Amino acid sequence: MKNTFAEKAHGRVNLIGEHTDYNGGWVLPTSIPQFTHVTITPRADKTVKISSSADPKKGDRREFSYQLGAEKHTDTWVDYVQGATKLLSEFSTARGESLQGFDAHIESNIPEGSGLSSSAALEISLLKALRSAFKLSINDVEIARLGQRIENEFVGARVGIMDQMACSLATAGEAIFLDTKALTFERIALDLEEMDMIVINSGISHRLSAGGGYNQRRAECEEACKMLGIKELRDINPVELKHKDLPQILMKRARHVVTENARVFDAVAAIRSGDLKRLGKLFVESHVSMRDDYEVSIPEIDTLVDLCIKDPQVYGARLTGGGFGGSIVAITKKGEGQRVAKAVIAEYNKKTGSTATLLA
Ligand code: ADP
Ligand code: MG
Repeated sequence: MKNTFAEKAHGRVNLIGEHTDYNGGWVLPTSIPQFTHVTITPRADKTVKISSSADPKKGDRREFSYQLGAEKHTDTWVDYVQGATKLLSEFSTARGESLQGFDAHIESNIPEGSGLSSSAALEISLLKALRSAFKLSINDVEIARLGQRIENEFVGARVGIMDQMACSLATAGEAIFLDTKALTFERIALDLEEMDMIVINSGISHRLSAGGGYNQRRAECEEACKMLGIKELRDINPVELKHKDLPQILMKRARHVVTENARVFDAVAAIRSGDLKRLGKLFVESHVSMRDDYEVSIPEIDTLVDLCIKDPQVYGARLTGGGFGGSIVAITKKGEGQRVAKAVIAEYNKKTGSTATLLA
């Protein structure tokens, strides 16, 4: 019997706090039922052989092989794995630990490019499986940070730390209230006896690749900080921002981020006091801010949100994840989630010609 090691990481849905993580702000993600599972069988040499089940577009397997230490950027899914072995090797060597070659197989039911962090779930499950296989001392927060570096330094997506922290740390029934600058967090219990949370994938995948709208928004935030003379947008509140002078586009971007940070704190207070109406209102305000100020929504996502919030049993709904496609999250009165989702999906499919799916 071969020595195999298995680990999994769930996808995440962000309840509120969007595009705040790369601004040193606050976020509130929770986990979804879908997950990525990685099995690893160590080898005696330096070869890495990886396979991933089901290419969603072609229905075939993805396979790749390379040598540890010879990782090269390919602009494909393989970069997430090569980035992991490259950075984890460097990290572990500095601690007097090391990796060997291995065979790895990846299975996942998280839709890719849908704002539910299939990429972070892949990085985190793989890094955790490598930790088990090679008895490494890296901890869960260090794994999250390494996952972010894989995307930033190897894949070329300038993502913040939220996805990796959520995929590494979150469990069902709680949200992670994370300060992305201090990397400190609190676990906030979600009262799922009182509400249903639904996640609907619009069927339109986003492109978080280098050079996309996501990286452009990051650059706009950096530009706004420069003009405001601050280090990060977390350092300014909505009232202070109002009195500043910025070009219109930069003002809109900054206003989204600073008001969104405030909404995360308000949402945590609403969850703690069981005020679901307030929480729903914050969801809707967040969506409007992403749509009008940050301009990362698309008409299909707006349709999903609008269909949800016109139902009187829905407290609120919003785009979740980076945007430009992806998914929405909504909260409804207890016992109403499935009915609302079914009705919304049927009408959305009819209206847009796209195919939405219910994930949670
Ligand atoms: P998201 O993280 O929102 O799903 P990203 O664009 O950040 O979207 O990441 C999606 C990419 O991650 C895919 O295009 C693919 O390269 C890679 N990926 C995710 N899951 C898997 C998997 N199970 N097998 C292979 N590659 C995967
Ligand atoms: Mg991702």
